[in-house]
Amino acid sequence: MKVSYLDLPQQYKNQKRELDEAFKRVMAEGSFILRKDVKIFEKKMSSYLGVKHIIGVNSGTDAIYLSLKLLNLKPKDEVITTALSPYPTFAILNAGAKPIFVDIEMDFNMNTDKIEEAISPRTKVIIPVHLNGRASRMDKIMKIAKKYKLKVIEDSAQSIGAEYKGKKTGTFGLLGCFSLHPMKNLSCAGDGGFISTNNDRLAKQLKILRNIGKRERTTFEGFGYNSRLDNLHAAILNIKLKNLKEYINKRKEIAFMYNKRLSRLPLTLPPFSKNDTYNSYVICSKNKKKLLKYLKEKKIESFSHYQTPVYKIKELKLPNFKLPITERICREAISIPINPSMTKEEIDYVIKTISNKKDL
Ligand SMILES: *Cc1c(COP(=O)(O)O)cnc(C)c1O
Repeated sequence: MKVSYLDLPQQYKNQKRELDEAFKRVMAEGSFILRKDVKIFEKKMSSYLGVKHIIGVNSGTDAIYLSLKLLNLKPKDEVITTALSPYPTFAILNAGAKPIFVDIEMDFNMNTDKIEEAISPRTKVIIPVHLNGRASRMDKIMKIAKKYKLKVIEDSAQSIGAEYKGKKTGTFGLLGCFSLHPMKNLSCAGDGGFISTNNDRLAKQLKILRNIGKRERTTFEGFGYNSRLDNLHAAILNIKLKNLKEYINKRKEIAFMYNKRLSRLPLTLPPFSKNDTYNSYVICSKNKKKLLKYLKEKKIESFSHYQTPVYKIKELKLPNFKLPITERICREAISIPINPSMTKEEIDYVIKTISNKKDL
């Protein structure tokens, strides 16, 4: 038995006829840049999330970068975020501001009790990162942001469809940033992303910003970047969006089984919640290296996605922080296969194989 981490070829097979037709149509029309499929995607996504505006861009990282650019941050302005995923930090540094890291909890999300002590007179923004398809505690974060007059930009790259108290992630803050990278629950055929907002003015500015200073094809209205969601990607997304709910439900079922049947082992499992979308299923083991090697021998494709806290990446030249849970997770975290095409046999095999390992 061999269990792969992703199932993108199978997802293609599930919708092959429609996807092939979309490819042929877009090629035959020659409609590649900001054409009708992008408009349709933005409309569908805004109704899916229950938000007024969606702006398609070329990646999740750019979604955060462009969002921060709208806020005209100064070099000493501080942005509070977490340190497991480097992307928000890259966007903060590119936008010319200073990242300030707060620790997380064992559910991989921002520890909201640590936010206030990280706030200084220079703090402007909080970027909660909804990791592994699990929502951060948005009520607390919004409350703190209001108290200190801070903007909230949600990094929802891994959390499309995840909810907090009945509301979808990416719709709490001023702006929500999503990725359509192949490792995410909704993906195009390469890089892509989008921004969600209820703010008319920001939506208009983002459309100019993503399109080298133009809102429509010709008139220049301001400064800009080349960061558009390609029309072919949008055409693919409009088809893949139909299966999103079913795929997310399948992930929840697998997570439920993992939680139930791995719970007695000396591992730390992610908490189970029906509101989570399990973009990844990440377990923590004191013997990470040995377990990874063992899973490889047993042909269960697994990853160590979080290896270094962002502030320890030498090239970024950031000041040091001491965040014990972040560092512990980097020492222990292993992402095991969770994808909507997994068969009952594959799920059983993963559970049995891990359960049979001594010294977890
Ligand atoms: C994937 C990811 C991003 C960046 O998305 P890209 O589309 O790859 O640029 C940002 N934040 C988090 C938490 C991610 O997982």
